[in-house]
Amino acid sequence: MLKGQQFASFRKQLLAWFWQFQRDLPWRRTRDPYHVWLSEIMLQQTRVAAVIPYYERFLERFPSLHGLAAAPEEEVLRRWSGLGYYSRARNLQKAAQKIVAEHRGEFPARLEDVLALPGIGNYTAAAILSIAFDQKHAVVDGNVARVLARLGAVRGDLRARGRWQELQECADAYLDPKSPGDWNQAMMELGATLCAPKSPQCLICPVAQFCEGRKLGIAEVLPEKRKKRATVEIHLAAAVFADQRGQTLLLPPPEKRKGQTPSDHVPTLVSNLWHFPTIPVYDEPVAGLRGFLGKLRIQTQNGQLHFLPADKVRHTVTYRSITVQPFRINVKKLPRIKGAEKVPLSEVTVLPVSNLTRKVARAASGLAFSKKKANSS
Ligand code: SF4
Repeated sequence: MLKGQQFASFRKQLLAWFWQFQRDLPWRRTRDPYHVWLSEIMLQQTRVAAVIPYYERFLERFPSLHGLAAAPEEEVLRRWSGLGYYSRARNLQKAAQKIVAEHRGEFPARLEDVLALPGIGNYTAAAILSIAFDQKHAVVDGNVARVLARLGAVRGDLRARGRWQELQECADAYLDPKSPGDWNQAMMELGATLCAPKSPQCLICPVAQFCEGRKLGIAEVLPEKRKKRATVEIHLAAAVFADQRGQTLLLPPPEKRKGQTPSDHVPTLVSNLWHFPTIPVYDEPVAGLRGFLGKLRIQTQNGQLHFLPADKVRHTVTYRSITVQPFRINVKKLPRIKGAEKVPLSEVTVLPVSNLTRKVARAASGLAFSKKKANSS
């Protein structure tokens, strides 16, 4: 841990570097708490480059917190479609509605009020309050934790019990009280650029002289790896109907179906958004899909539906490795399924859908419609 005069030099050097070399990012051109909050939520588990276009389009559609609070949830999810982790969008809107109801639409400036908003934890609250309101709250995210571990040559698993709290205390001590927002961003910027997980660029680091990890020659191996959770393999099969006009059918998210679907655990794997009829595969996928469609009251035996296998789709969500076998079912007329919506197969994103559903649509689109093989369902 740094002492006395070292603190002052350390802060001065890091801030000077940040002010000169920081990346020009759209959310850094404002201190509007709504904008800062939106950027922090979008940046969770998502790369900066991926977030920028979503952030700009989202603010074009919802320029104010009031507009976001009043919008239909589907519209919010549609603007989020493709960014993943959709609970973030749902919580964002719920929080906007709470701010309108309880704080007259003004983003609250008290820590306890911010922490009471859905989807906001310690890190996000500290980031918003320091950047938008200049309050003295230090952030610790993955990037900052890595920088702190290297600066202090901290060994072991950073997620071990009590360790994160120690890092928070360390970050609190380092925080520059005169510029807390810039300080937090400088620490995050250092972690995102020079002090990256692989090959830290210590030779051009503005705080190299204070770094214990570098002095000991162990910076590159810090933080030490934690045990990875074992990958779980999941196999699914999806029914992709297609009529002569290229229309398909999507089922609604589970809460809209009011528990009517026989396999409610599957939609959680397709992100609680609009999705193709999908089942987990334990045995024979076509038989499983026929059974599932039968429960949705779609005639599959008498109507002689043909299940044309498309290329398999692979998708990874954290520790889950998902393989989907899409089956295209060409029909003259789409069957009626309660709550389902007709959408163009080439444009399923007119409804909020996950990346997995997009991939399934793309795979099934590769199989052309054949009049000869069209079923008469
Ligand atoms: S000297 Fe190297 S390891 Fe230490 S903070 Fe700078 S980039 Fe990271």
